Amino acid sequence: MNGIRRTHMLPLHAIAWLFLAALPLAAQVAPPPTNSLPASQSPLGDLTSLNGDAKVWLQDLIKINTTNPPGNEQAAAKYILTILRKEGIAAEELPVAPGRTSVVARLRSSAVADPSRALILVAHMDVVGVDRARWSVDPFAATIKDGYLYGRGAIDNKAMLASNLATFIALKRANARLNRDVIFLATDDEEQGGDASIKILIAKYWDKIAAGFALNEGGNVVLENGKVQYVAVQASEKVAVNVTVVARGTSGHASMPTKDNPVVHLSAAVAKIAGYVAPVHFTAIVRRYFEGLAGVEDDEIAKWMRSLDTADRGEHAQRVISDANPQWNSMLRDTISPTMLAAGVRPNVIPAEARATLNIRLLPGDTIDALLNELNKLVNDPLVRLDVQPDAGLAAPPSSLENDFYTAITKVAAQEFGGAPVLPYQSPWATDSAQLRLHNVQSYGLWPFPLTQDDLKRMHGDDERIPLASFAKGIDVESRIVAEFAVTK
Ligand SMILES: [Zn+2]
Repeated sequence: MNGIRRTHMLPLHAIAWLFLAALPLAAQVAPPPTNSLPASQSPLGDLTSLNGDAKVWLQDLIKINTTNPPGNEQAAAKYILTILRKEGIAAEELPVAPGRTSVVARLRSSAVADPSRALILVAHMDVVGVDRARWSVDPFAATIKDGYLYGRGAIDNKAMLASNLATFIALKRANARLNRDVIFLATDDEEQGGDASIKILIAKYWDKIAAGFALNEGGNVVLENGKVQYVAVQASEKVAVNVTVVARGTSGHASMPTKDNPVVHLSAAVAKIAGYVAPVHFTAIVRRYFEGLAGVEDDEIAKWMRSLDTADRGEHAQRVISDANPQWNSMLRDTISPTMLAAGVRPNVIPAEARATLNIRLLPGDTIDALLNELNKLVNDPLVRLDVQPDAGLAAPPSSLENDFYTAITKVAAQEFGGAPVLPYQSPWATDSAQLRLHNVQSYGLWPFPLTQDDLKRMHGDDERIPLASFAKGIDVESRIVAEFAVTK
């Protein structure tokens, strides 16, 4: 990848800096580089050999198939345990469900733990399934090709898992003087959020993982034309709710069409629901995100971003921005995606019932009842009913943008990515951070690896891959963020 500056590959900067520092001020024509400090000046020392280790860990973790369901994360947990113990770190396996365990380890700052100050590095070990026929390489072989490492989990979330592990081990190897406990946590069942998820860990083992701050997946370092365009730090997320649309009628012989055919009523209802556009609601994070993004977007889009929340042009701007990018649309309003349909048993029988599933993503603060009220009015059909499924996510308060950890993230990210804007981000997708935020943890999401939109789109898709240069850069960035926040200078 061009444009990604592997800072530790530039030892000349260090020499140049020493040389300049020895000269009289007037002779110093160029300032020392502030946005690309060589890795030798990293507070945790030279990370070159650690980066090599981390690449092997990532490859090995990809080769351990943790497709969820069933997950089988225990194999990955055992692997991580071995690595931590080899470094002299006392790590513990936490049983969550049969075949599924988590790993927790702690670097202590003092004899008496203060959970409210502790920082936890969180990553899930499970991955989503693959459609093997659509991959150009074996998704579990961790193939390296043209500077990329391919495999399911190459980004989501084994890269983060390996980066967390590397950061944690960097602290240990450097014998860093910590000003707070740093906890490593590898979790299960994030992709399904079921009976082995972080919910269970929190319920069963809170004393082992309690923290005031967390770093998790969920935000991006967006790379465009070889340059980091901006960094989005996830501080809040939308809430997923599944709703079943049920149409009921009279079953009968298909040779004699009926007025109450549930297939027809369901289809009409789904079409109406799909056309519904929920009103725009701004949260503080979304407002700041678009304000910041306007600074790096092209002039035309920037103009509309700046008008999003104005009285005169706001409505038009909201339409332009929503049409321009489905993710922006989803950040501004509740959204509904019909995802499943079920009806009928034979071609010549009118069924008594037809069903559709809606995957709804609510803005934090919006309620499903209010939305269903609108949808029921719109559908306006006594044969059609909307039922909320019991697996709804919980709305969590956003993480603060005013604490030392968020400041450390933004400071280091801006330094490391050439002054690119660092923006707070409300993700359309859900992460484990919601559960943490519900337990008063200030949790932030950031995959610290610079990635293009093309690479980001491969998460959960085919040929998922990470540029090895981005992986190494991400470890450098993450370890600096953690050092900035948790290491006494
Ligand atoms: Zn993930």
